[in-house]
Amino acid sequence: MSEFAFKGGLKLENPYPADEIDLIRIPLPDKVILPLQQRIGEQAKPIVGIGEHVLTGQVVATIDDERCAPVHASISGNVVAIDEQVMPHQSGLKALCITIESDGKDDWVDTSIGCTEHYELCTPETIYNKIRVSGIVGMGGAGFPTHTKVQLAEGCHTLLVNATECEPGITCDASLILAYSTKIIRGAEVLFHISRAERAIIAIEDDKPEAIALLKKYCNNDRISIEEIPTKYTSGAEKILVKSVLGIEIPSGKFASDVGVLCLNVGTVVAIFDAVVENRPLISRAVTVAGNAVKVPKNFQVRLGASYDYLLSFTDLEEGKHKVSMAGMMMGIELKGTNYSVTKNTNCIFVDMDEKSAPAKAKECIRCGLCNTVCPVDLLPQQLYWYSKGENIDKAVDYNLLDCIECGCCSYVCPSRIPLVNYYQFSKALYRQQVKEKEQTDKARSRFEFREMRLERNKRERAEMMEAKKKALKEKMASDKAQKDIIEAAVERVSSSKSDTEEQDGN
Ligand code: SF4
Ligand code: SF4
Repeated sequence: MSEFAFKGGLKLENPYPADEIDLIRIPLPDKVILPLQQRIGEQAKPIVGIGEHVLTGQVVATIDDERCAPVHASISGNVVAIDEQVMPHQSGLKALCITIESDGKDDWVDTSIGCTEHYELCTPETIYNKIRVSGIVGMGGAGFPTHTKVQLAEGCHTLLVNATECEPGITCDASLILAYSTKIIRGAEVLFHISRAERAIIAIEDDKPEAIALLKKYCNNDRISIEEIPTKYTSGAEKILVKSVLGIEIPSGKFASDVGVLCLNVGTVVAIFDAVVENRPLISRAVTVAGNAVKVPKNFQVRLGASYDYLLSFTDLEEGKHKVSMAGMMMGIELKGTNYSVTKNTNCIFVDMDEKSAPAKAKECIRCGLCNTVCPVDLLPQQLYWYSKGENIDKAVDYNLLDCIECGCCSYVCPSRIPLVNYYQFSKALYRQQVKEKEQTDKARSRFEFREMRLERNKRERAEMMEAKKKALKEKMASDKAQKDIIEAAVERVSSSKSDTEEQDGN
């Protein structure tokens, strides 16, 4: 059991325990919609056309940016559209997507080409590239490209496998452990090969005895240990996990890699194993479907790009009006309906009854300080609230607004039902906008200053050139005059010597 407790957080009962947390494999969807914009970098470019037949695992969009990953077909079939579709995001913004209609066969690309089964013989660079071309991103919900994260942590001393669930009610990681515990152990061994990590710790909450037992049963590498941590929200947040398992504090604005820790979600480690050892790109993920409108919460292994409606068709829902969110009860993003598709960072679809979960009306802050006691990253949520409310963003940033992990603990305990996280999200968005505007102003100013400097330099160069020309002309004129004087003197001398000769001849 971990010896380093973290301050704050919440002990929450899982309100929607899955009757069975087994990972359910569902039939292939008839259609998938694959977004080309990922967490960072530019949008990937389609390399297939409408009407083209593609195989499962085939690259359908690529990107030159080395930080980003390509996009793969998650089923075999025909490309039927390349157009903009609404993304599962609060903004309701659209992004370019490739739509594939299934041929019902699930024919794969040849996975024997470029296979690195004996990865021990490969250089770390070959394996980083394998992770990149397999399209792996953080499966805990962050969606950050994994090859970049792994490369950044090249010299790390510890590999921390995050097997804790992101939020109460989500059980997809536990279901993944039950299904793939050996892959997790072997995936950690692949990571030993490409990093200098001396040890790996698989951190898991103590309310998952079955998953813990399986990991212990299959772990026969003495460099890998299983660490049980108390079941307390937000133990799965990276900074908090590093602190509670290793006792290392990650400074503000820094990451786990800055303190020598490579922290990866269990789903990411499974995906690394599949890519490096079995040469299979990331084409599916585990998703929890839960919420108070779901009769029996379940975990599904689903192909990327399958629609929410398709996934929900395998779930019994209560009759009535539903409210759908991506992610769980604490950090879920409310969506407008179910017209979305599963992406690499969809860990949970939460369906609540609309009327049961109508938000309570917020009252005035009574300065009870409860929010301050539960903040797991030691912020002062009450202060942040006042500064955010007054749009005093600089002050909120001084109070470490940017370290807020948006866990929602403060909003959860607030007796005045103030939606505190919404204020912080708004302030962060405002701050980002200010930074962007400042960058644009700075760019415009430096463009203006550069133009002024260039004009000044041209003027100076022109003046210097004119001066040089004048000087050259003067020198030429002086030289011409001197030459003329010499010629005239010579002519004078010749003329006078000629008249002297004539005079002598006349005598
Ligand atoms: S918990 Fe709510 S009411 Fe209490 S201090 Fe924080 S914001 Fe104010
Ligand atoms: S949402 Fe932010 S301020 Fe509130 S408890 Fe979580 S980290 Fe602290």
